[in-house]
Amino acid sequence: MEITKENRKWLDAMGLSHPIVIAGPCSAETEEQVLKTAHLLKDTDTNVFRAGIWKPRTRPGGFEGVGEIGLPWLQKVKEETGMLVTTEVGNAQHVELALKYDIDILWIGARTTVNPFAVQEIADALKGVNKPVLVKNPVNPDLPLWLGGVERFQAAGISQLGVIHRGFSTYNSLHYRNKPKWHLAIELKKEFPDLPLILDPSHICGRRDTLLDVSQTALDLNYDGLMVETHIDPDKAWSDAAQQITPAQLHQMTLDLKIRQKSSSGEEFQRKLNMHRKELDLIDSSLIDILADRMQIAESIGRLKHKENVAILQSGRWADILATMIQAGADKGLSKEFVEEIFKAIHVESINIQHNVK
Ligand code: PEP
Ligand code: MN
Repeated sequence: MEITKENRKWLDAMGLSHPIVIAGPCSAETEEQVLKTAHLLKDTDTNVFRAGIWKPRTRPGGFEGVGEIGLPWLQKVKEETGMLVTTEVGNAQHVELALKYDIDILWIGARTTVNPFAVQEIADALKGVNKPVLVKNPVNPDLPLWLGGVERFQAAGISQLGVIHRGFSTYNSLHYRNKPKWHLAIELKKEFPDLPLILDPSHICGRRDTLLDVSQTALDLNYDGLMVETHIDPDKAWSDAAQQITPAQLHQMTLDLKIRQKSSSGEEFQRKLNMHRKELDLIDSSLIDILADRMQIAESIGRLKHKENVAILQSGRWADILATMIQAGADKGLSKEFVEEIFKAIHVESINIQHNVK
């Protein structure tokens, strides 16, 4: 897929500053709630007003959105505040209605990106229409599926594209509602540096107190913007109450965020350096997690061998692993010495762990 500089231009053409701020309630609830929120957001850094009209709910019976009656409310937001408006579309009928009410930007929800049939249906409905489309990551951590969503819109002739990183669903995550798994977005950015990348900290955090921290990480990684759920009375929101903040809190958050600007070449160097260091830190902590997982498996093997009274060192298997890894490393440009040293250390530690199990 060719994502070129053209992909970024629509952000500039729309006069959207860096970073772009998309804010508004999880769901449009009433005309009054939508308009009050929008008027308060008008005095913040918000460029685009968001509100869910159709809400994909995991289980039936919850609030599934106000539907079509909410679309004229968004039109009023445009007229009264001058902000652009965006909503989620999940099928061709939503697209038709969103176009009828002249919604400026459409976004594809995480539960839709997982379904290529639905994405294709929406892309077909948008053929010949010149609206920006933002594709949220799928709920599961699958980069090709995310890119596949973008590619379906590109193939339908939509050139104003962007992606929204809203985290990935995991069972029993303590800290996050949806784990960020930053390396997936970093990989996407590496492959397509000109595709605008926006962070949705609200669905990643699922709570208010960590929004700033997660948003700062995104700005340090040079994301192009943020989408933050904002409500006049967050505790009373009809959906996602725990993660929404007031327009005043959003304003404070944008003041607290350190926005990395490009200016002198010295600063540009520092910015790039900081970004790469942040990437390295994230990869290093993933390395520790992976090594810990590997050692846990070694421990299970140790227990199994102990029970069956089998010798710990299986030299044939070890020689195979080492040869395979040296080859795999060479294929990716890593030297034989380096791979050998790392795997020898891993092997020694595995053996020690297996020795210690009783
Ligand atoms: C939303 O933005 O309110 C939403 C439903 O998000 P997601 O698709 O990321 O769950
Ligand atoms: Mn929401």
